[in-house]
Amino acid sequence: MHNVIIIGSGCAGLTAAIYAARANLTPLVIDGREPGDQLTLTTEVENFPGFPDGIMGPDLIENMRKQAQRFGATYHAGEVTEVDMSKRPFRVVAGKETYETKALIVAAGASARLLGMPHEKEMIGHGVSTCATCDGFFFRGKEIAVVGGGDSAMEESNFLTKFATKVYLLHRRNEFRASKIMLDRMRKNEKIQVITPTVVEELLGVGNHLLEGVKIRNVQTKEVSTLPVAGLFIAIGHNPNTAAFKGQLDMDENGYLKTAPGSARTNVPGVFAAGDVQDHIYRQAVTAAGSGCMAAIEAERWLEAQH
Ligand code: NAP
Repeated sequence: MHNVIIIGSGCAGLTAAIYAARANLTPLVIDGREPGDQLTLTTEVENFPGFPDGIMGPDLIENMRKQAQRFGATYHAGEVTEVDMSKRPFRVVAGKETYETKALIVAAGASARLLGMPHEKEMIGHGVSTCATCDGFFFRGKEIAVVGGGDSAMEESNFLTKFATKVYLLHRRNEFRASKIMLDRMRKNEKIQVITPTVVEELLGVGNHLLEGVKIRNVQTKEVSTLPVAGLFIAIGHNPNTAAFKGQLDMDENGYLKTAPGSARTNVPGVFAAGDVQDHIYRQAVTAAGSGCMAAIEAERWLEAQH
């Protein structure tokens, strides 16, 4: 029987683990499909307070893991396949193991959305990317395309002009949902060419495992053309990793977990949520860490109140 199980080992989960471990709760952290989550896919993190020269995302995560371990946190490598929150203790199934726990912190994060094109997944790392900060460097001196019409797409397009000679911004509508300031910044950037309303239909170069271009279709005229780009960055948002909690935890219409205002409490007493799994607004390492801290403190107080 565990005091607290933490689902997810990104910034939120590991901060929760540090706090819960220092409160002598010997938390068990279940890693998930991508241990360390989105930070392990980034390169340098320049905005995490305390690192004036920046820190590499994977190093930041590794430091947090060690820090939690030092105070007694343990880790289970693997993904949660089933959770029963209908009665206490809660039951968590991960791989072949079934765990019981008094309190639960869900910090399962969010994953990048994909377009759903043939060969899209297998071409990730071979010209297709969901993370400009991670992969932009590889496209120095090349032409690339970015898909999306939100703030992420604007931010990534701008960022990628540091490396690419030209960035085509492909969006399925003529209107953008990005904020005005981000849109203005993108429009002022002479290296970015906007092509709308357009969708990507096909990846070229699949046979060679190296992107050679994309086939795009104008949604209005139906005209199909080829863009000879070396990189395709998909920036169409994220999906929270909440499938395992459907029907048990309250979620908004996009699947993000609902927490009580100013708190990490979910609708199930004893279950707390932290990080991107419940935050589609800020999505920052430091806000995830902050909410992980809140979840651990609330779990500790809740456990104390049970006895
Ligand atoms: P988002 O606002 O949900 O935008 C996603 C974009 O992708 C939309 O333009 C959408 O098109 C398009 N899209 C979705 N599915 C698609 C598909 N299957 N095929 C083609 N296009 C598709 O996501 P986001 O840009 O990642 O932003 C998420 C949140 O983070 C927002 O609240 C944003 O403000 C915030 N954010 C802030 C900053 C910043 O301020 N520095 C940076 C990044 C993100 P439609 O418009 O047609 O639906």
